[in-house]
Formats: sequence, C-alpha cells, structure tokens
Amino acid sequence: MNSAEPGAPAPKRILIVEDNDLNMRLLKDVLEAHGYCTDAAGEGELAVEMARRFKPDLILLDIQLPDISGLEACRRLKRDPATRDIPVVAVTAFAMAGDERRARDSGCDGYVTKPIMLPTFLATVSAFAGPPAITLPLYLHPAAAAR
Ligand code: MN
Repeated sequence: MNSAEPGAPAPKRILIVEDNDLNMRLLKDVLEAHGYCTDAAGEGELAVEMARRFKPDLILLDIQLPDISGLEACRRLKRDPATRDIPVVAVTAFAMAGDERRARDSGCDGYVTKPIMLPTFLATVSAFAGPPAITLPLYLHPAAAAR
C-alpha cells in the first residue's frame, strides 16, 4: 500500500457513471472532498468493463446513458460473478412513480434522485462504501456553490 500514513485504510473507490459533464463534475468534487477516490465512466458498457477491471467499492449509476441504459448496465453487473457483489446505487433525474422499483428490479442496491440532496446522498454513499475519510461542514462543500 502506498498510503502516506502507514496503517491508514485505503480510500474507498467509487465508480461514477454519468454522461452529463456538469453532474459528473459535481459528484466527483463532492466525493473527493470527502476523501473518496473516484473513477469516471460516461457510458454503460465502459462502466461494466471498468467495474470488472477495477472492482470499485461502490458504483453510482445514472439511469439515462447514451448507449445501454443504467438498468441494463446494472443487470449485466449483477449477472457477472466478478461484479455482482459491488453495491450499485441508481442516480436518476426522473422522480416518477415506479422508477425506484424498476431500478431495484434490475438489481440496484440503492436509489437516489437528482438534484442531489447532500445529506441524503452522503448517507447513502456512506452506508454502501463506508464512511467518508474527510468530513466537511456543509457550507464549505463544493456543491454549496451550485445551489
Ligand atoms: Mn444521463
């Protein structure tokens, strides 16, 4: 382990799957500010491939993607013994009735809606990937500027 502090736990790795650059930037900034390590994928098939290769601790999965849908990406992840144990949290803009159930039916372990509500979002990430290595007061948060 290359950690600067011997004995410190390795940072948790989160694969962010999001095709909107602004949303990607926001999620990345928020997670990194809390000490999580992030990887980024803008397409579903690439995300599935990256998950197989890098085995992240958590996958945040946008449902509307340019190639395969997030639901299909999730089904592929959960079918593959190499990736099925990685928790997947769906992140979706459509807050319509039935979306959460569709996400869960496809194998998603959790569900959050956009726009991101920071406390809920961080609690969900924490529950699946482990607590943040860095805690910030919310007013110093990168997302505060976007509100
Ligand atoms: Mn999208």
